[in-house]
Amino acid sequence: MKAIRRFTVRPVLPEALRPLSDLARNLRWSWHTETRDLFQAVDPDGWRACDGDPVQLLGAVPAGRLAELAADRRFLRRLTAAADDLDDYLHGRRWYQTHPRAAEFPAAVAYFSPEFGVTAALPQYSGGLGILAGDHLKAASDLGAPLIGVGLLYRHGYFRQSLSRDGWQQEHYPLLDPDELPVTLLREPGGSPAQISLALPAGRSLRAHVWVARVGRVPLLMLDSDVEENGPGERDVTDRLYGGGSEHRLLQEMLLGIGGVRAVRTYCRLTGHPGPEVFHTNEGHAGFLGLERIREAGEAGLGFDAALEAVRAGTVFTTHTPVPAGIDRFDRELVARHLGDRGALPGVPVDRILRLGTETYPGGDPQVFNMAVMGLRLAQRANGVSTLHGAVSRGMFAGLWPGFDAEEVPITSVTNGVHAPTWVAPEVFRLGARRIGAGRAEDALTVGGSELWHAVEGIPDAEIWELRRELREQLVTEVRTRLRASWRQRGAGAAELGWVDGVLDPDVLTIGFARRVPSYKRLTLMLRDRDRLRSLLLHPERPVQIVVAGKAHPADDGGKRLVQELVRFADDPRVRHRIAFLPDYGMAMAQKLYPGCDVWLNNPLRPLEACGTSGMKAALNGCLNLSVLDGWWDEWYEPDFGWAIPTADGDGTSATSTMEEDRRDDLEAAALYELIENRVAPRFYDRGPGGLPHHWVGMVRRTLAVLGPKVLAGRMVREYVERLYAPAAGAHRALDAATSGDLAGWKARVRGAWPKVAVDHVEAVEHAPAGTAELGVVLALRVRVALGDLTPDDVEVQAVAGRVDADDAITEARPYPLKPAGGPDLEGRVVYEGPLPLDRTGAFGYTIRVLPSHPLLASPADLGLVAWPGTR
Ligand SMILES: *Cc1c(COP(=O)(O)O)cnc(C)c1O
Repeated sequence: MKAIRRFTVRPVLPEALRPLSDLARNLRWSWHTETRDLFQAVDPDGWRACDGDPVQLLGAVPAGRLAELAADRRFLRRLTAAADDLDDYLHGRRWYQTHPRAAEFPAAVAYFSPEFGVTAALPQYSGGLGILAGDHLKAASDLGAPLIGVGLLYRHGYFRQSLSRDGWQQEHYPLLDPDELPVTLLREPGGSPAQISLALPAGRSLRAHVWVARVGRVPLLMLDSDVEENGPGERDVTDRLYGGGSEHRLLQEMLLGIGGVRAVRTYCRLTGHPGPEVFHTNEGHAGFLGLERIREAGEAGLGFDAALEAVRAGTVFTTHTPVPAGIDRFDRELVARHLGDRGALPGVPVDRILRLGTETYPGGDPQVFNMAVMGLRLAQRANGVSTLHGAVSRGMFAGLWPGFDAEEVPITSVTNGVHAPTWVAPEVFRLGARRIGAGRAEDALTVGGSELWHAVEGIPDAEIWELRRELREQLVTEVRTRLRASWRQRGAGAAELGWVDGVLDPDVLTIGFARRVPSYKRLTLMLRDRDRLRSLLLHPERPVQIVVAGKAHPADDGGKRLVQELVRFADDPRVRHRIAFLPDYGMAMAQKLYPGCDVWLNNPLRPLEACGTSGMKAALNGCLNLSVLDGWWDEWYEPDFGWAIPTADGDGTSATSTMEEDRRDDLEAAALYELIENRVAPRFYDRGPGGLPHHWVGMVRRTLAVLGPKVLAGRMVREYVERLYAPAAGAHRALDAATSGDLAGWKARVRGAWPKVAVDHVEAVEHAPAGTAELGVVLALRVRVALGDLTPDDVEVQAVAGRVDADDAITEARPYPLKPAGGPDLEGRVVYEGPLPLDRTGAFGYTIRVLPSHPLLASPADLGLVAWPGTR
């Protein structure tokens, strides 16, 4: 018999144990070792059985055990201490409150993401994007930054991976019951669930309830469409992450963006939480949040253009990928049908919505609605996620700012970071805490103080090496357990699996490689020359062993073939003791995997890895990186931290043929083997007195001490607050209803008048006649500019100067503003003057340009308007 409904019947906790319930309901336990230890003490077997999930644990502890604990004075003392510690954490003044610029910081920030990876116990993520979002919330909580997370609650989450006998990926979608998850339902004062509703075509509506997860100080709101009032189609909108066709996807994104803003408003109304001054969208999927806020502003009486200005001011957009498949593009008709008359956004003109998502650059497709393009147009501030990715994104989207060089495209970068308390193994943390005390060590990991990191410099080689071995040994045990379970699941009998006890060796150089399996990450690059790889694995003196994991997207058969190739290679009895594929890569596995590896391998097709974060998590545990110079590694690589795999990429912009790609893979794979054989392994096995590899341990120490503080999510969130949230809050405050109307009016007037703006005449006094000049000479520029119906207040006139290349293109350009010095004459022309110092030797050049200028613009490229000499 199958049950038609299921419930979780919870034991009633004895009064003395009530604080356990609060501790279980706040996900801070997931990064707080003492709280986890406390739960483990409640019932060690139960803790293991439920994979360390406090909500499940409390649902299953026998009443007798609870009674016993309620009378256990020592346990109760520990419980009180943990509860007090959480209370301090939740209510104390932290970095955000004590910052000298705190008054400029927003009262609250709403952070939207299609996925959140906070803990394995709340499986609402597929990979790096979601885990980054989880780390962002946790770091914000540690810093005291008032974020509200907004996402969806997927009833099946992302799939769980297993393997068939012949190594083909199998997908399972276990049904998640919110009652068994660490979430609570948002309710109206009368007790009924708070409900969000969106109008859909043909008179249907999409309704959702809101679940709240507590991520330390940060509430995470998750919308769930599986409610009785919905029709069957609508109930399934939040069925699973990244499943279904494009209409399903659009409905998810409407619920996330539009429904998400409504959920935030409801949450603030019900709890008194201050309303967000800044909205941050993590990738384009949540971009509709800007349209909903335009609708709200319209209700408050603003026209579309004024509302657009007001909304843009307080919006931050983060782009996460230069891979086209990672960007959502919808059919325009589909968008028009859902957001047109009587749709989800009454009063917002659909033609204006469609224009926001139009790919207006060369090569753009007029039939599609591009969510990243809309994201950029709806946000006054935008960023990529590493220095290199910022540059790649500026090039990729430069067409949206015609007339501007890619370097001037207003997309900055904030390099990702990872939440150290989540990703640093307790054993590694203790090594630091022994030197400087647990409290200061915790501060160093969260806020980023440098003491812990310096303290690492003083730890003796032997201690570091002992720790590395301990972690490697734990990984070996973990791999054997997982491999055995996988083989049982693949149909092997226990008796056939004796060999699993000999898989991996705690003294062999261990390389890890785990990530999702899109083609650009090149899971199988290491298989390019299988004999070569086998000889590395089986080297008589300097063997290596490799642990591999990764999920292919369920619709990606190409990716599944790569998984199968790898699995089949690893199944070979000749090498299976040296290479293992572990199914079902996720946070729980990741937390065990990174610390146990000596080397973390990453070989994407440069520059397609926007940042990459797994290597950062590995580094925080003293693992060295072996990676293509892409994403974060391009920025922070030093020979002390690991090795750079040379790449055969061009500038990354031109399409390459299959033959070129093949050749590139051959070259880069050969370079990888070469590095492992001649650099990595010899250093690992180069043992000095006491059997210690001093050079290697020195690299581990430098990685912890110098790279460690850079890769922290605390550093990342501080940058977001100071560089993006605070200015966005300032712009939001400046753009009240009146000023946003003025700004919109000014923009319309400038756009209308721009065709008559031109640089008419340029003259430079002291210009050397033969095209040469001396260092230190100052040119006096005198320029005549036609402004048409504009005035000098509306524009800035600049000389832009720098080195010039063979094609006269200016590089390393620097602007020198000129001042109005006369006019206008009868034809409306104004003279501008100013000095231009020749302060660099070599080929040097300059030009003149006119830009719109207004104090409320975040970038001079904001309107995409510019006038050059001779452009009229
Ligand atoms: C960190 C992490 C990722 C992202 O890793 P990348 O290096 O960015 O590919 C993916 N999955 C899990 C489980 C992670 O912990």
